[in-house]
Amino acid sequence: MAAAKSHLHPIEGARFHKPVAVPNYTDFYASIHHATNVGRHFRPEQPLLANYKWIPIGYHGRASSLVISGTTVARPSGQTRLAEAQHPSFGPTRQLDFELELGAYIGTGNLLGSPIPIDEAEQHLFGLSLVNDWSARDIQSWEYQPLGPFLGKSFATSLSPWVIPIEALAPYRTSLAPRAEPLPYLNESTADTSFDITLEVLLSTSHMREHNLPPTAISTSNLSDLYWSFAQMLTHHTSNGCNLQPGDILASGTVSGPGPGSEGCLLEITQRGTVPLQLPTGELREFLVDGDEIILRGHCHRKGLPLITLGECRGAILPAS
Ligand code: CA
Repeated sequence: MAAAKSHLHPIEGARFHKPVAVPNYTDFYASIHHATNVGRHFRPEQPLLANYKWIPIGYHGRASSLVISGTTVARPSGQTRLAEAQHPSFGPTRQLDFELELGAYIGTGNLLGSPIPIDEAEQHLFGLSLVNDWSARDIQSWEYQPLGPFLGKSFATSLSPWVIPIEALAPYRTSLAPRAEPLPYLNESTADTSFDITLEVLLSTSHMREHNLPPTAISTSNLSDLYWSFAQMLTHHTSNGCNLQPGDILASGTVSGPGPGSEGCLLEITQRGTVPLQLPTGELREFLVDGDEIILRGHCHRKGLPLITLGECRGAILPAS
């Protein structure tokens, strides 16, 4: 017993740090299910934009506010405009959300001006971690046109402490769903360019913790639900000559599956706050409230193969300061 305890104690008591001082963080939008679900709220007649199946959509994120799992996240304030209001106002976000994502760390970078061909892309990927791209939807929806996400995203992004090397995931290689043929520079010569990684989102409310109730699962999806592979995201990112650096993170964008129960953020789960999520405690959530903790988990498991866990990515919401 003593040996088992001493084996467990170091992790239980460990204080985690970011595995890498990340130089640059890019966030993609690689789930066609997420893009369609979100697009439906804004453009019911054409949820998916015409460029989606041609180009891996992304934007440059903010590396300075990447935080390690377990770091609390203060509710950000920002400029928003209520639907019925004539003018915007400044104050704490009313629509705080999480985004379930996978992040790929760059191992070897490339020189400025030297694009990485698609069939060499994976040689530049080191490994995968869980990423929670916290999002303030009301700030985001008021600010995002015409240049894209800004302060609605950059207040914090949480990372899990473990990086699972791409080589370790080899037994769990799988192909993405059949897709339209992309332009030649994104056309992969092999099929198995994704990984069978089960992803889960759990929510723990203050009420649950006060009553010693476990977190409740609110979403389950799989990395292979994405439309674009990390190799395609990487090659597209460098296709203009942009240089990637060791330790850079390319995040997948919200990973949502095709059906109910697999939506990777509350914006989708609650249909932008119009259909509250009912928790087993009877609590309702349109968006996150102070005291809520989001726990992302990921694992690979198949009969006859070793279990691989990506660990956890946690973050609890504190009141606005
Ligand atoms: Ca995102």
